[in-house]
Amino acid sequence: MKSNASLEKIAGLLKPAQSILIFPHINVDGDALGSAAALCRALRNQKKDAWILLEGEIPSYISFMDTAFCTKDADCIMQPDLCICVDCSEESRMPKRAAKYKAGKVRVCIDHHVTGEGFGDYYYIDGDEAATAQIIYKLLLAMEAEIDQVIAESIYIGISTDTGGFQFSNTTAETHAIAAKLFEKGIDHTGIMVRLYQTVPLKTVQLQAEILERMEVLADGKAAISYVSNEMMQALSASLDDAEGSVDLLRNIEGVEMAAFLKEQDDSVRVSMRAKSFSNVHQIAAKFGGGGHAKAAGCTIHLPLAEAVEVMKREMTAYWENQGK
Ligand code: 5GP
Ligand code: MN
Repeated sequence: MKSNASLEKIAGLLKPAQSILIFPHINVDGDALGSAAALCRALRNQKKDAWILLEGEIPSYISFMDTAFCTKDADCIMQPDLCICVDCSEESRMPKRAAKYKAGKVRVCIDHHVTGEGFGDYYYIDGDEAATAQIIYKLLLAMEAEIDQVIAESIYIGISTDTGGFQFSNTTAETHAIAAKLFEKGIDHTGIMVRLYQTVPLKTVQLQAEILERMEVLADGKAAISYVSNEMMQALSASLDDAEGSVDLLRNIEGVEMAAFLKEQDDSVRVSMRAKSFSNVHQIAAKFGGGGHAKAAGCTIHLPLAEAVEVMKREMTAYWENQGK
C-alpha cells in the first residue's frame, strides 16, 4: 500500500471541485474504463462538469460499456479543478495526456498496480485490491454518492475483467461481497458475462487457431509462448483487437504456469504475460520497463518480432532454471 491520502480525504477533495478530468491508462481495459465511467457518472449525477480523457481507441470487447462521457478532446475543460488518474499512476501509461493531467489545480491518483509511483499531489495505491474498480466502489461510498445500475455495472465489469471473471488469485471475500452489493443495484450479470466472455468474434477464433499452431511450450511444460504477426492479421483481415484474450488460451493449458503472448506493432512488440498459481510475471515484464501485477503484466520490446520471441523464450526458461536457487 502506497498512499498519502485516505479515500475520505480524496472524497473531500472532489466535493468542492466543479470541473474534473479523469484519466484511465493507455490501452484502456475493462477496469480502467469501468473505474473511470463509474466515477464520472457519479460526479455527473452531482451536477459537476466531468469527462474521461482517452488516448487511443476503446477495444471492441468493452465497447458496450458506459462510454457516454469519454472524449479525446483535451480542451473539453481548459483548467480542471481536479485531475484524477484511475488504474494508472505512471506518466508512461498516459504519455500524450500527462501534460494535461499536470495542468489540473489538484492532482489525484487511484490505482492498484504494484508499479504505481504516486503520480500527483494525492495518491491511493493498493496492490492488494483485485481491481481499481473495487477502490472506486469504496470511494463512492466515502463520497456518499448514489450507486445506480449503470454505475454498478461499470464497477462490476472492472472487477470481472481484472479477476478473469472471479477466477484469479487476486479475488477475495471482499471482491465477492462488493459483487453482491452490485447485484442489489440490479446489474445485468448474465448480459455482461455474455458480452465479455461469450461474444468472441469468429475472426478471433480463426486467429487463435493460427496462434495455437505457432505456440511453443518451454521449461518442461511450465511455460507457453506464442505470437501474432502483422502478416497473420492481414491474412484474416483481423485487427489487434481480435488477438485479445489469446494469452489466456496459453495460460489455461494443464501444467502451464506462465504464458507470454506477443503482438507485432509498427515499430515494436507488445507483450502480455500471465501467471497461474505461484509464478511472478511482473518480474520479467519489469526487466523491459513494463509492469502490472504478479499474475498479469505487460511490456513493450523494441525489437523485430522473431527476436522479441527469442528474448522472451530465454527469459522464461531462465526464470524456471533460477527457481529454487
Ligand atoms: P495486458 O496484458 O492485459 O495488456 O496487461 C496486463 C496488466 O499489466 C494490466 O494490469 C496492465 O495495466 C499492465 N501492463 C501492461 N503493459 C504494461 C506496461 O507496459 N507498463 C506497465 N506499468 N503496466 C503494464
Ligand atoms: Mn486494473
